[in-house]
Amino acid sequence: MNYDLIIIGAGPGGYHAAVRAAQYDAKVALIEKGNVGGTCLNIGCIPTKALFSSAKLIEKIEKSAKDFGVDIIGEVRPNFKNAVNRKNLIVTELISGIETLIKQRKIDLYYGAARILEASLDYGITINIEGKNTKQIKGKRLIIATGAKPTLVPSFNIDHKFILTSDDILAKDFNKVPESILIVGGGVIGCEFANIFSRFGSKVKIFDYLPSIIANEEQLVVRELKKKFNIMGIEIYENRNILKIEKVNSKVIATTCDSKVPKDQIDSAEKSFHEADLCLVSIGRKPCIEGLGLENTKIELNEGKIVVNPNTLETNENGIYAVGDVTGGILLAHVASYEGNIAVFNALSSIGGFDTFPVVTDYTVIPASIFTAFEIGSVGYKSKYLEDRGVKIRTGRFGYASLGKAKCMGEEEGFLMIITDEETDDILGASCIGISASELIAEIALAMKNGLSINDITNTVHSHPTLSEMVLEAAEDVYGLSIHRVRRRVKQKIDLKEDMIRQFASSENLKKYGLISLEPLLTTG
Ligand code: FAD
Repeated sequence: MNYDLIIIGAGPGGYHAAVRAAQYDAKVALIEKGNVGGTCLNIGCIPTKALFSSAKLIEKIEKSAKDFGVDIIGEVRPNFKNAVNRKNLIVTELISGIETLIKQRKIDLYYGAARILEASLDYGITINIEGKNTKQIKGKRLIIATGAKPTLVPSFNIDHKFILTSDDILAKDFNKVPESILIVGGGVIGCEFANIFSRFGSKVKIFDYLPSIIANEEQLVVRELKKKFNIMGIEIYENRNILKIEKVNSKVIATTCDSKVPKDQIDSAEKSFHEADLCLVSIGRKPCIEGLGLENTKIELNEGKIVVNPNTLETNENGIYAVGDVTGGILLAHVASYEGNIAVFNALSSIGGFDTFPVVTDYTVIPASIFTAFEIGSVGYKSKYLEDRGVKIRTGRFGYASLGKAKCMGEEEGFLMIITDEETDDILGASCIGISASELIAEIALAMKNGLSINDITNTVHSHPTLSEMVLEAAEDVYGLSIHRVRRRVKQKIDLKEDMIRQFASSENLKKYGLISLEPLLTTG
């Protein structure tokens, strides 16, 4: 048997798993039919964030260069072609970085399409690789990490020229800004592109079937984003059912009706028509399973998604695991990587002889970020979800406008909100909209994952002046104790004295490292 572990797909799920397995001395093969880095690096997270950064710079220059003391002599003109070149360069450099990493870890990287020929714990798992040369390899365990691709709907007539998916827009040679664009689907991807195209000068319309864009986010956050989109001139059409999209002469036309109209009454329903130069369809993604040879295994599918044991990530076929978007779970890069780690530990432990142990998944604290007209970061539960379930909550909120650092940065819009359990002070969730929201939420994720309460945050000294003081002030605001927000103090139910003793006990731990006095922490010179 050639390999301990074979991994199909080198996206964040697959290549993280490969590196982790190699760190634990497994002999690993990684197979990729496109570029390493997968959707995330090539046509997802990274290219969109490169373009988001260009869009942010345009906003910054247009809004406040003069206030910051920079006179612009002449015209400020966004240049999408250059932004795309920069984006392409970032992607190329990161691809090469991952390839080097894979080489350094002595992982065998095969370029080609993988197909499972045979799956057996006794005789091994045989994979055919159809690349420049056809090759077959054998392994003891297999992880499938083949990701997902845009959902195509026949009536949307996606031609990849005028009616596009995000894959088309993020292609290396897509470098022309349309005068106008229709965005079908107001989820994360749709809203991120709405911001980018609007900043580069397009007239943007977003359509969503649901009553709200980014419907799963905290309602106050969504309201703030909509206000901003409105100011930017982005038109939002909610509760709209897109019936068809067609190319007519040099334009695309979307036919829509109210999404509440029952299916059998659509023909007679009132329609509205919207015209633009291009249309982006971003209505969801479906797992990549074609040609994988799943019919040669006992792997079960549910609506096209690979079914796994939610704890171990093993499929119905012993020894074969699946991680990331191909399982249709939480479609985020960091979830795919997290699952890659879990699958590696379980796969290697089941072989035996490695320094690993079986583990189970824990999805209770998964932060998520959106990069649109504002950055949005969230973790844990949203207030409506908790209220609908009768959980008694308290919330603390703090706005960027009251924070010195944010003022200095000229970034005063938005807020951070923390939700706690009224009885226990446990942190149940948090949402942030504004500059660096995705970074700020990380502190709260760490607190939640470790069962810390808001007192643990308020008892932690936060450096000044920093954006992280938002977390401190929002936590203090839960009981009206924020220094820079005026709100009546509410007495906490828990025994604060006990809590202080516990805090002290935790800092006792540091004493074993000799950090009893301040001396080692003082900066010198
Ligand atoms: P993928 O990254 O899709 O990788 C799968 C790999 O498998 C691909 O490289 C594919 O070529 C390969 N493959 C498929 N079939 C085979 C085969 N038979 N043989 C060999 N190789 C095969 N997530 C975030 O967390 N943050 C973001 O900001 C973010 N932004 C996004 C923006 C966009 C526009 C999109 C589309 C997605 C975004 N995502 C974001 C989601 C994120 O990209 C995915 O969740 C993540 O890439 C999933 O990782 P994965 O490893 O499961 O699959």
